Amino acid sequence: MSTASRPYNFSAGPAILPAEVFQRASEAVVELRQNGHERDAAGTGLSLLEISHRSKEFGAVHEAAVALAHEVLRIPADTHKILLLPGGATQQFAMVPQNLRRDGRPMVYVDTGAWAGKAIAEARIQGPTEVLASSKDVSYTKVPEFDPSAAEGASYLHLTTNETIGGIEYSSIPEVDGVPVVIDASSHIGSRPMDLHRAGLGYAGTQKNLGCSGLCLVWIRHDLLELEPVAPIAKFFRYQSHAKADSLLNTPNTFGILVLKLVLEWLRDQGGVDAMAKRNVAKATRLYEALDASSLFAAMAQPGHRSNMNVTFTLGGAPEADQEAQTKRFLSEAAQAGLVNLKGHRSVGGCRASIYNAFPAEGVDALVEFMRAFEAKA
Ligand code: PMP
Repeated sequence: MSTASRPYNFSAGPAILPAEVFQRASEAVVELRQNGHERDAAGTGLSLLEISHRSKEFGAVHEAAVALAHEVLRIPADTHKILLLPGGATQQFAMVPQNLRRDGRPMVYVDTGAWAGKAIAEARIQGPTEVLASSKDVSYTKVPEFDPSAAEGASYLHLTTNETIGGIEYSSIPEVDGVPVVIDASSHIGSRPMDLHRAGLGYAGTQKNLGCSGLCLVWIRHDLLELEPVAPIAKFFRYQSHAKADSLLNTPNTFGILVLKLVLEWLRDQGGVDAMAKRNVAKATRLYEALDASSLFAAMAQPGHRSNMNVTFTLGGAPEADQEAQTKRFLSEAAQAGLVNLKGHRSVGGCRASIYNAFPAEGVDALVEFMRAFEAKA
């Protein structure tokens, strides 16, 4: 695949990955090397896709992926177990309440938009659920203010720490006395240092900053693995079952696990989450500054709450009657210029530039230049 001729891909997920990861993953599909992917290691003569998930060769890949997740994402192994589960983050919306609900203690959520809403809906199926705070009244353009101590006495407090659709992001993970904090960090995990250990349970679908779809990284505090569910649940939906089986309760997504390992190696070699944070802040700042300086384009999220991963914007400066047509023209001309997948989620409209870890700064420069030129002739 020629990288020179690639468009800049602003997709929200599945999303852009480092070119080196695409290359190495494709090599492993042709032939897996002894240590998973090392080019100078002995070949196995077999494709990653045709070997057992219980083989020594795949075992090395799986173990390395988990060890790298602990190291690179700074999730301490002495407090948390890492699980690699199927079903994406959506399955976690259901597993969290099934496993963590306690009798007489409400499940407490903060409503920040589309993804928090889906998590809340699943909790309501399981039992009493409270919404501690919501930013619905401001169309989810900010993270609502809330006092974490108001969640004391809850089964857990759930936060969606980056809302992929609305483009808002928490700056830190709160702690609550005696109450596990649960986070959905799907769309910003690995983008900066994050104190992920503060979460009693955290989860992230891997198809944005960590790899490909169909796999979810879960980290769970050891004591929470011992909780007895308050209502019977299927063995497959119990964290404890997956922990006991080291995520091999069924045949896992072996390809997804290999890609996760490759992405984490790339992240480590780039200087880890600290280096990534610097790059991500620079990319996002450049784009938000351009939006704020424009009289045609406007950022959707409020300053102080804006996501560094998913930058949502409208052509709000265009006359209202003309906005939809202008947005369509912008998206179509951008695509022709090699800036693809900028359409906002269908539920909110407008535009969205997802600029995950692997998205190059030059792509942001190209978008800013394109927006300027578009505005000049609009
Ligand atoms: N949570 C967030 C924040 C997301 O962005 C997404 C997917 N875009 C999901 C959950 C759902 O993930 P999946 O489709 O892998 O189940």
